[in-house]
Amino acid sequence: MEQIIRIAVQKSGRLSDDSLSLIKECGIKFYNGTGKLKSTATNFPVEFLFLRDDDIPGYVADGVADLGIVGENELVEKDKDVLTLKKLGFSKCRLSLAIPKGQEYPGIHYFQGKSIATSYPKILDDYLKSHQIEAEIHEISGSVEIAPSIGLAEGICDIVSSGSTLLMNGLKEVEEIFKSEAVLIGNHDMADWKKAIVDKLLFRINAVQKGKSNKYVLMNVPNASISRVIELIPGMRSPTILPLAQEGWSSVHSVLSEDQFWENIEELRAAGAEGILVVPIEKMVI
Ligand code: ATP
Ligand code: MG
Repeated sequence: MEQIIRIAVQKSGRLSDDSLSLIKECGIKFYNGTGKLKSTATNFPVEFLFLRDDDIPGYVADGVADLGIVGENELVEKDKDVLTLKKLGFSKCRLSLAIPKGQEYPGIHYFQGKSIATSYPKILDDYLKSHQIEAEIHEISGSVEIAPSIGLAEGICDIVSSGSTLLMNGLKEVEEIFKSEAVLIGNHDMADWKKAIVDKLLFRINAVQKGKSNKYVLMNVPNASISRVIELIPGMRSPTILPLAQEGWSSVHSVLSEDQFWENIEELRAAGAEGILVVPIEKMVI
């Protein structure tokens, strides 16, 4: 039998585009025509299953899929026994409690004895318990924001990104209870040959993520300032220095995080650096 692992990704929704982009950035090629539920990569031993995100933690726990990409909110809510292998940095959102706009909010005890509608009963229950609040939880699977206006519940607990959906439904966010991003999860009992493929994939994901968080920076520096500039942008091993055609000047190249670059920009200019270029890095292996 061909040695191939299975990855479950969301079929369509707020996780799918970034999940597939990450896989492509890892150099993995596959065909995903509309409506396809399975696809095999052409240049990496992996098969994709396109599923609803609700089903991904369960499929990975049962070993139907070896890996999955899912939001932490869904992962914690489903409470399945899987490994979290890597935070992926996309589909960031938060779960919050919200109440009708006109209500005064004195603090979490507002919810004592109240009814709350949510699609995340477990996360909400854990949160309320940890704050010694007893409230009635109404589990509904969608359009949670409508619950207070139709008299189903007095508050809601739902995913918020900008807050505009809440506002449109006459609600205001009062407590953030959970922060989420996409994660790569894995089955607990993978055979060694599967783990070896997973390691290869993780190596590529790390290279892509490192590349994204770092920049290649080039600048012209008067030779007298080179040592000062090197202190400011030490780079991976050390910066590259190339002489310019104009005597007394060099081009200094280095790799650094974007934050580090912005922190040091004024000092670099004060040291005499000019013609500064910041270039994206596609992949980075160190
Ligand atoms: P499915 O049909 O697969 O069950 P869904 O409707 O449950 O999809 P989506 O709305 O596609 O789910 O959201 C998928 C995941 O993306 C959420 O569980 C959450 O982790 C994340 N997410 C949700 N809303 C946002 C948002 N506004 N911004 C960023 N990420 C979000
Ligand atoms: Mg879902």
